[in-house]
Amino acid sequence: MTNALTVDLAVIGGGVAGCMAAVAAAREGARVVLVERYGFLGGNATAGAVAQFNSWQTAAGRRVVAGLADEVVARLRAVGAAGPHEVFTMSTGHRMDRVVYAPERLKWVLDRLLLDAGVQPLLHAQVAAVQAAGRRVESLSVLCKSGLVELRPRVLADASGDLDALQRAGARFLPLAEGEALQPATMMFRFGPVDFERFDAIAAPERAALARRGHAQGELARAALHAARDPGSDDAWFNISRLAVDATDAWALSRAEIEGRDQAWRAAQFLQREVPGCERGTLRAFGTQIGIRETRRVEGDHVLGADDLLRPAAFADAIAAGAYPIDIHPAQGGGLQYRELGDDHAYAIPWRCLLPTTLDNALALGRGVSATHEAQAAIRVMTISMAVGHAAGIGAALACAGGRDGAVRGIDIRALQRRLREQGAILH
Ligand SMILES: Cc1cc2nc3c(=O)[nH]c(=O)nc-3n(C[C@H](O)[C@H](O)[C@H](O)COP(=O)(O)OP(=O)(O)OC[C@H]3O[C@@H](n4cnc5c(N)ncnc54)[C@H](O)[C@@H]3O)c2cc1C
Repeated sequence: MTNALTVDLAVIGGGVAGCMAAVAAAREGARVVLVERYGFLGGNATAGAVAQFNSWQTAAGRRVVAGLADEVVARLRAVGAAGPHEVFTMSTGHRMDRVVYAPERLKWVLDRLLLDAGVQPLLHAQVAAVQAAGRRVESLSVLCKSGLVELRPRVLADASGDLDALQRAGARFLPLAEGEALQPATMMFRFGPVDFERFDAIAAPERAALARRGHAQGELARAALHAARDPGSDDAWFNISRLAVDATDAWALSRAEIEGRDQAWRAAQFLQREVPGCERGTLRAFGTQIGIRETRRVEGDHVLGADDLLRPAAFADAIAAGAYPIDIHPAQGGGLQYRELGDDHAYAIPWRCLLPTTLDNALALGRGVSATHEAQAAIRVMTISMAVGHAAGIGAALACAGGRDGAVRGIDIRALQRRLREQGAILH
């Protein structure tokens, strides 16, 4: 092994959660390396081409996510790569708010954000092994173009979505309950040109009927015509395919990538033939990979449950807030299980959800935080993932400040909350 590097924080995974954690920690003065398996950042936001940041506010219009997430949107808008904040009705009839963005240009925006903050990215790099002694992560072996690189972090933050590093460190994960299944994955695809005047004018009942017909004909894996316009173009990213897969199983993942492209291909034919405004369009691009909604969820000091969201629970160690409803895409069939929240309903996420029960100097963030299948179906969205990442970065920096050893349970929660508020974050 060559090139051992000692750092305050090693962030594994450059999705939106990992990027926010890395930036937030580096701005607090921590030495941060971010390890990402692709040659670019963004995860589901870019490689998965999700193309819209959903749920910034309650249905009544109260903001619940801001801070670093706002800065990402401001930087996107400055280069014409994000639309205005909009409230809209989904093709399933549900109300939602969002900011659409251009996935390709988000890659560059995240590059600049990380470099400006002083983060050291290690791209084309995957965690091969994690060495832990008892409850402490000592080092990581990262496989990259130079061979194996060893990282010795005081804090390990696993933002890989699948929590590969924590799995290799021997952390425990939460099982699915009886009758639950992992949420399916989706191969997003870019389709255009779309005549948006006509496409957007399709009335909701007609849109729903079209989607049901496409599903009944076997051309749409999901009974929806959900699309986000790519800003500055006549194209949209369509979210129609549906793949039941455990994406931590390499063979199943391989099959799902191929099946995903085929589902997208068939959906594009349906759009072209049957959907007003899409007649001149063709499939222009697939996502780099299928978008993954759910895999491992860590067992943390607190397991966020649906009740915590629905009551909602007040947590003394709240570090982020959200208002996205419980949105479960069933693994099979064309529908959606959707539990809408009340008009001004928001919930909080406590710091303890980031703390793996069996490790002292590690954090889980993004879609793998400690939550039940139901609660994860709400807090997995990118707005909340960014808010949690923001908190994780400052928390990790506090755990290393003044020569501390990276113990993430010992941090001053009030100092973390204060710092987050100073940076515009909303905690409940
Ligand atoms: C199809 C789909 C539609 C969605 N729609 C919306 C929506 O409309 N609005 C919304 O806000 N959210 C939406 N979501 C949810 C949201 O996109 C994700 O939950 C969120 O992006 C998760 O971010 P993350 O940073 O936790 O993980 P990810 O985005 O999964 O990022 C993980 C990163 O880690 C890297 N990585 C993985 N393993 C390793 C490893 N071993 N070593 C190194 N790097 C590794 C990956 O390449 C990736 O960059 C959707 C998700 C999907 C899949």
